[in-house]
Amino acid sequence: MVTSEQLYERLNNGIRFLLQENGVGPACAGRGDIFFLENLFEPASRDAAETYAKELCKDCPLLRACGEYALAANETEGIWAGMNPSERRAIIQKGQRSARSGSLSS
Ligand code: SF4
Repeated sequence: MVTSEQLYERLNNGIRFLLQENGVGPACAGRGDIFFLENLFEPASRDAAETYAKELCKDCPLLRACGEYALAANETEGIWAGMNPSERRAIIQKGQRSARSGSLSS
């Protein structure tokens, strides 16, 4: 089983590769203002920032690695791979339910 630490390393390797190849990192680099919305107090601003962050994630070459890490690590804050915390929680819970029902039926 791959650990969240290994997935984090894979994500960081991807970021290093992007930097070497393109000279720029992923769109979220240095953009805590829109990717970590917990810092915004105005709900309207949060919604707009979240929508914008999710759009940026769609074109990210690290989308898959980012999402796999964020789910495995159960990241509780920020936008990762176009998912906000409640969307990630829902995916994790669905996976846990599936695993439980699978273990009950086997
Ligand atoms: S998918 Fe989004 S949050 Fe993940 S590295 Fe790319 S831009 Fe950043």
